[in-house]
Amino acid sequence: MRRPHHLVRHQDPALLSFPTELAQAYVFDLDGTIYLGDQLLPGARRLVAELRRQGVPVRFLSNNPTRDPQQYLDKLRGLGVCVHPEEICSTVVTTTRWLREHHPGAKVFAIAEEPLKRALAQAGIVLTEDPEEIDIVVASYDRTFDYRKLQTAFDAIWFYQRAFLIQTNPDPYCPFPGGRGEPDCAAVTAAIEACTGHRCRVSLGKPSPLMVAEALRGLEVEVSQCVMVGDRLATDIQMALDAGMGSACVLTGEATASDIASLEPSRRPRWVLDRVDRLVPAGTWQRLGWSEDE
Ligand SMILES: [Mg+2]
Repeated sequence: MRRPHHLVRHQDPALLSFPTELAQAYVFDLDGTIYLGDQLLPGARRLVAELRRQGVPVRFLSNNPTRDPQQYLDKLRGLGVCVHPEEICSTVVTTTRWLREHHPGAKVFAIAEEPLKRALAQAGIVLTEDPEEIDIVVASYDRTFDYRKLQTAFDAIWFYQRAFLIQTNPDPYCPFPGGRGEPDCAAVTAAIEACTGHRCRVSLGKPSPLMVAEALRGLEVEVSQCVMVGDRLATDIQMALDAGMGSACVLTGEATASDIASLEPSRRPRWVLDRVDRLVPAGTWQRLGWSEDE
């Protein structure tokens, strides 16, 4: 049996490095960074509160298309983290916006759970399950995915040669507490690619630059002066590196110290944190009287 990686993690203190000043803005991943499952991670609440007190903008980004921003808002507020609706962006938002901007009249087959389907319908996007009229198949993290949906996508793309395939996010699985997880959008995408021979054309989640643009929309900040904070190297950190943002990997989710040590130096995050509130410089910890007990 595969051992849950959080049990075999060793935190190499030599690998840790912390910023010495605050950035212009922060973009946070959620699961594994701010909370893990239903548990708030150490220091997350006071970090967000302190950034707000200092007037530093924050954004929260999730690749998970099974929840809309309101659900994240409710969850974060339930955990005592102060957030505003416009600060939350998920692949429900990027997928809806991309379809509206690039293919406004397209008929869409969404292999998706209710939050994404609801958002697409509310945005005026025509949803259909008739393969003869589908223009775009959207693969997503869909726990109701079945053979019928695969057949519909196959008919639209392969038989009618009409539709093309996009995906909400490229994650292979969604990590759960205790080292478990659930198959995510990459598995649904791969099933469609395998039978049709067509490749997915667009991915709307991290590490796509579309996600950076959405996160920083409306903020008057330099991308290079913003920091992306996350626990996944292939999505959070890769997106930051591609966009020229600062990057901080927190070891409270997926990535381990040994994962980072095995990367080529050019693909490593700028900072490696054992807890997310290390983003606040040590001098401020002292001034505020913070300890590692929180
Ligand atoms: Mg994460």
